[in-house]
Amino acid sequence: MVITGKTQLLGVIGDPITHSLSPVMHNAALAALGVDWVYLPFAVAPEHLETAVRGFAAIGLRGFNVTIPHKQAIMPLLAEVSEVAQAVGAVNTVWRTDAGWWGTNTDVVGFLAPLQALSQAWNQCHAMILGCGGAARAVMAGCAQLGCQTIHVVGRDAAKVAAFHASWSQPALRDRLFVATWEQLPQLLPTTQLLVNATPLGMHPQANQSPLTPAEIALLPPESITYDLIYTPNPTLFLKLAQARELRTINGLEMLIQQGAAALQIWLQQQVPIPVMEAALRQYLGLAEERG
Ligand code: NAP
Repeated sequence: MVITGKTQLLGVIGDPITHSLSPVMHNAALAALGVDWVYLPFAVAPEHLETAVRGFAAIGLRGFNVTIPHKQAIMPLLAEVSEVAQAVGAVNTVWRTDAGWWGTNTDVVGFLAPLQALSQAWNQCHAMILGCGGAARAVMAGCAQLGCQTIHVVGRDAAKVAAFHASWSQPALRDRLFVATWEQLPQLLPTTQLLVNATPLGMHPQANQSPLTPAEIALLPPESITYDLIYTPNPTLFLKLAQARELRTINGLEMLIQQGAAALQIWLQQQVPIPVMEAALRQYLGLAEERG
């Protein structure tokens, strides 16, 4: 790849940023498209966020992704925030317009992509989200968009799940949203058709852990879908246990790729090569190529 005087700049800001996989998949896609753009990681400490965003405008950066800890803090610095990002309460994708920086949240479309490929009567689906942190908010917005009949959010801290519930103001949504604590799982699992792990349980260095025990997984109905947001290891212990029960499983890699693809599409205003992004990530993570 040749950087020229005309090369357009994209990037990702976070603190730390060294773990980010976004440069791998975005630069693979930009190279495959043959466009003169490059995507760079920027480590930006919280106290420098505003200066960095002004600097990005000054140097003509075309757009950037936002990761921990800036996803909420960036919002007041933007000229416009999409409805979905306002609902989630976090922005992960920013682009430059004549009116200033605009922001949205592509985690929701990323989460939804593998589910929308399934033929499912979502309006009859009882969903459950394990965890009530940042990713759970995107999953919640996604389940609401699917039209799930009920959405149970399960946390280990009753005060945090209550605050999660209170933060969703739309009446149509609040009527379908219920919160519970971990101890209530045995009563809820037998009617759960979509179960999403939005906790880090099962991710390195907790790769030998699963949010649910085999006995709890045994309580799920046979048609249920188990979805782990974790992308490495792949599959997680949770999904291995679900596979042993022959339940349908989805891992976090597709969400990661699809949220990135949605962002790149916003910046470039053209279709992006999703298989190239996936192959680059799989190679970088040392994962086998997907078959079939
Ligand atoms: P977060 O904001 O820190 O939230 C984590 C949630 O998990 C919190 O509710 C936390 O509860 C709960 N939790 C943590 N450890 C737990 C434990 N031992 N037992 C029970 N609950 C526990 O993190 P996040 O940003 O939402 O990320 C969550 C997971 O999603 C991570 O594994 C992340 O890698 C993954 N993710 C994947 C994608 C993707 O594209 N595939 C995107 C975003 C996130 P407390 O508040 O009580 O600590």
